[in-house]
Amino acid sequence: MPTIDVPARLADIRARLDAAVARRNPSIAADAPEVRLIGVSKRQPLAKLEAAHAAGLRDFGENYAQELRDKQRDWAPAGDDAPRWHYIGALQSNKLKYLVGKTTLIHTVDRPELLTAIDRRAHAAGVVQDVLIEVAIAGEAQKAGVAPAALPDLLAACERAEHGSVRCLGLMIIPPAGTPEDTRCWFQALRELRDDLRGRFPGTGEAPRVLLRELSMGMSSDFEVAIAEGATLVRVGTAIFGPRN
Ligand SMILES: *Cc1c(COP(=O)(O)O)cnc(C)c1O
Repeated sequence: MPTIDVPARLADIRARLDAAVARRNPSIAADAPEVRLIGVSKRQPLAKLEAAHAAGLRDFGENYAQELRDKQRDWAPAGDDAPRWHYIGALQSNKLKYLVGKTTLIHTVDRPELLTAIDRRAHAAGVVQDVLIEVAIAGEAQKAGVAPAALPDLLAACERAEHGSVRCLGLMIIPPAGTPEDTRCWFQALRELRDDLRGRFPGTGEAPRVLLRELSMGMSSDFEVAIAEGATLVRVGTAIFGPRN
């Protein structure tokens, strides 16, 4: 096994990320927050997460709830150094106990039952849980994600959640496989969808429960294209950590 130089790879990805941000059409990101790099660390050993953390990475993405729990148990830098955990895997109600109140952001909410269950658990834990809505942008029926046409109702359900303990910060996609240029149209479509929804969900007022600020899109192969199209969160795994176990 060749050893993977995680700090060098991370530095390279950061340089490419900064360059993509600098090249981006300013009108696309007029009100966007900075682009945040999430290191997708699923099926990677803790030593690699620690190496990235020592090089300044704080955001980590995981796909498996129990793996996330185990990593949190075995590795818990505190205070300002605490990792921010993002859950980017398939979501089932019976996994929420590992996630609510234990993650910065759950990226993959796609149905009202999940919102209700997250709201209830977050309320019981005395926290507000931030989430994104995963959108099946290409209309692939077999894939996770809400159909674009059903998105307004799902956001309305978030606004109405009984305890007000779940907050939606934006949208996420896993587009169909293809070259980065093939994928551009899906990134663009998600941004346009978000822009359209802002009319109905402006995110103004005190403590809005729907605030369409974040676009979680782009992975190792296409994060620069995603940034050009308005991504605010990119999820980069193998390009930082190397092949997964
Ligand atoms: C695994 C995964 C990634 C990272 O993929 P890489 O190609 O390794 O960068 C990003 N997003 C999701 C949802 C994933 O499951």
